[in-house]
Amino acid sequence: MSETVIKIYAVQGLFLYVNEENLSPETLKNWKEHGIKTALAVPGMEWAGERSGGKYKHLSDVCLSAGKEEELTEKEASRLVDAALKKLKLPAGRTVVISDHPATIGAAKKKEFAMQIGLAGEGSLRRPFYERGANLVVETLREVALYEEGLHEPGFSQNIPGVFEGYPDLRMMFGKRKPVFFFDYDGTLSPIVNDPAKAIMTEGLQDLLNDLARKFRIAVISGRDMDDVKNFVGLDNLIYAGSHGFRIAGPDGLFMEQEQAKKLRPRLDEMEKKLRETLEKQICGVQVERKRYAIAVHYRNAPDHAQEEISRQVETLLARDSDFTMGTGKKIVEVKPSLDWHKGKAVEWIMQELGLAGSADHVAVYVGDDITDEDAFRTLADDGIGILVGEHEQPSAARYRLRDTEQVKQFIYYLKSAWFDRT
Ligand SMILES: [Mg+2]
Repeated sequence: MSETVIKIYAVQGLFLYVNEENLSPETLKNWKEHGIKTALAVPGMEWAGERSGGKYKHLSDVCLSAGKEEELTEKEASRLVDAALKKLKLPAGRTVVISDHPATIGAAKKKEFAMQIGLAGEGSLRRPFYERGANLVVETLREVALYEEGLHEPGFSQNIPGVFEGYPDLRMMFGKRKPVFFFDYDGTLSPIVNDPAKAIMTEGLQDLLNDLARKFRIAVISGRDMDDVKNFVGLDNLIYAGSHGFRIAGPDGLFMEQEQAKKLRPRLDEMEKKLRETLEKQICGVQVERKRYAIAVHYRNAPDHAQEEISRQVETLLARDSDFTMGTGKKIVEVKPSLDWHKGKAVEWIMQELGLAGSADHVAVYVGDDITDEDAFRTLADDGIGILVGEHEQPSAARYRLRDTEQVKQFIYYLKSAWFDRT
């Protein structure tokens, strides 16, 4: 694959740590022409004096000597990242890092680079890069286009192929494997509406899902409370995971509740009270919603400046409190337990419980629209299929895209007819 996957604008510099076989001189040349300053480190390549870079000298502004790849420790990665910024004389926030070694990604993430991009060649795993904080993982350098001009702050546009592009029969997407479906709820099975209590499922979808569930395992994974999302979907034969997977239940006695999260509920009660007294009263249109394991602050109906003020107050509330963390989504700021548990872990747990983890005969397919769904896309980056609905403000690890909730319905309709009406 050589087409451009991501275009990043308003970038000034790049730190590139890659093995020589992953270097693409024409790409470096292209970036240079776009005004990007580059610092290059190639594992095992000691330049004679850091100013000389041999054959790459004319393509990069700074050449950094680097030891062997297997010797790249956290400390060494951090030193290289610092050296790159220093020699480029650029702020981290205007610099992108691209690397085929996860340690470099981790080091850059700590320095708050504009973006960290992992380079996992064909056959290499993507997940180790995502686990270290990569915003995106690509296969070749040619998939990345960098531009100095464009915006006031670094921004991007990403090309994710549509589900309906390239498959005459959708079943081909799964190869010989049987799909296990995971759907997010809001913005995926139901259009986003101003009042979360009125987010009813897209018309006709209930029957389609019911039909599809006759042949496949289907789970709905939501940030909503489990019972809440189950009520909206209204089907008994599906698995439901609420609170981003903190509580899961399904047919045949399937059940799980995150014990640590349970213990933190009384503290959430206190915070809820505080947030209602402050944010809800101070900013018109802000709505505090208490969930079982989280507090959601909705600002969809509030003035433009609300988000900044909400984030500031929530950050103050959570300062020095390591048990909770702040999450963000579409028009929502959330207080949630800072546990290493998310939608991706919930997918893994469900696959495990169904006896399908690592199965060569089954493939997990996750469809979602929001930033919290990225945890699931990243989890499935090497073995599974992530499908993003619409877009959000971060790069996505999804493999395919559906335009909107109507296309989600179309997708489910095609799946259903591919298996039931034509065979
Ligand atoms: Mg959603």
